[in-house]
Amino acid sequence: MLMQNKFCLVTGVANHRSIAWAIAQSLDREGARLALSYLGEREKEGIDKIVDQLQQPPLLVPCDATNDESVAAAFAAIGQEFGRLDGLVHSIAFAKREDLEGRYTDTSRDGYHLALEVSAYTLNILVRGAEPLMTEGGSVVAMTYLGSERVIPHYNVMGVAKAALEAGVRYLAGELGAKGIRVNGLSAGPIKTLAARGIRDFASMLKIHEERAALRRNVNVEEVGNTALFLSSDLSSGITGEVIYVDGGYRIMGM
Ligand code: NAD
Repeated sequence: MLMQNKFCLVTGVANHRSIAWAIAQSLDREGARLALSYLGEREKEGIDKIVDQLQQPPLLVPCDATNDESVAAAFAAIGQEFGRLDGLVHSIAFAKREDLEGRYTDTSRDGYHLALEVSAYTLNILVRGAEPLMTEGGSVVAMTYLGSERVIPHYNVMGVAKAALEAGVRYLAGELGAKGIRVNGLSAGPIKTLAARGIRDFASMLKIHEERAALRRNVNVEEVGNTALFLSSDLSSGITGEVIYVDGGYRIMGM
């Protein structure tokens, strides 16, 4: 039971396909007490359908990570129920569909701001909320993708947001390490989820990954969940400020 007596907030569960759901299941299996935050009523309904698959009933808290009051209310509820927090999973991203279809060159100012605010700045907001509750240190895991460092067709402004997120991981890790708070990125290969549906021609992305990855297959969401468990647990106590790739070895290949 790697996560016994640990309290974790997992953001970003929208339905049973969400990467955050696989992470929640891995943490729950190892004994973590979970809070799951949801964006709105539609996401709450998605969680309600699957939540009884967890061993321990989680605390459900509404949280729009772009709204300071909503974030403050969520951490107040978590503080009241748990008294402290040991883990935070950031699994949140959004970009306008049109900005994932056309040329990156043509990204609108609004679309750029929106993608970076929702997908990168929310890490700051959530870490700031979690920090006072991480009284015994803690671990933050942020979901990212290779589009941060390579030009991936149709990933566009989301790649720029992921680059900001990954740089944020390093700055946060550098500042919070003195308090025993670790911050890492988890870069997953492509997985069919609601957010992935917004990326044009996602099916080709899956096919190319499968053909070219060292393991010659796509990763599954349980593999991502288990790596997030490792990063959230004390097994990874010496790792911070890193981006860990769960991509079947796609990134290391020459072509
Ligand atoms: P998903 O659609 O299931 O999850 C995205 C989540 O972001 C949703 O739960 C949504 O409610 C939440 N969200 C959006 N705006 C929010 C806001 N303002 N406040 C709070 N929550 C908000 O899709 P997913 O693929 O599981 O995405 C989770 C994370 O994994 C994202 O950061 C994504 O970029 C990353 N990722 C996905 C893949 C993939 O192939 N699916 C690969 C690598 C990384």
